[in-house]
Amino acid sequence: MNNFVIGWVKTVTDVFSKAKRSKVMSLIRGKENKATELALIGLFKNSHITGWRRNQKLFGKPDFVFKKEGIAVFVDGCFWHGCPIHETVPKTNMLFWVKKINTNKKRDKKVNLYLRRNGWKVVRIWQHEIKKLHSKKLLQKALGLH
Ligand SMILES: [Zn+2]
Repeated sequence: MNNFVIGWVKTVTDVFSKAKRSKVMSLIRGKENKATELALIGLFKNSHITGWRRNQKLFGKPDFVFKKEGIAVFVDGCFWHGCPIHETVPKTNMLFWVKKINTNKKRDKKVNLYLRRNGWKVVRIWQHEIKKLHSKKLLQKALGLH
């Protein structure tokens, strides 16, 4: 049994071995990405926000692109992108995860810089913020739409 550190302080018992944890985490990553993307699509539809595209061939692969407005939207998973509120690092292989998350953060910064230099407005929304964007007004504000 390994311990699992939540927010660096709380620990819970990890029921998985190192290898299994690694596999589980990558599965969670895929599912989380999908779920957050779908959640945002739902909000766009409910709020009648149009003009967004997915899977645009743009540096850093934004989750959504508003071409006309020049806005690139990323929805960042709290774990993978190191959200300051929900950063959770498995104690097993802790260094590995810390390095991985730091690499992700660095890449995010590089992507932001590149896109901004090329005239894009970059919007990053934390996974935990999505549920707060329950009205058209809040969504438009978060996205920088008018
Ligand atoms: Zn978070």
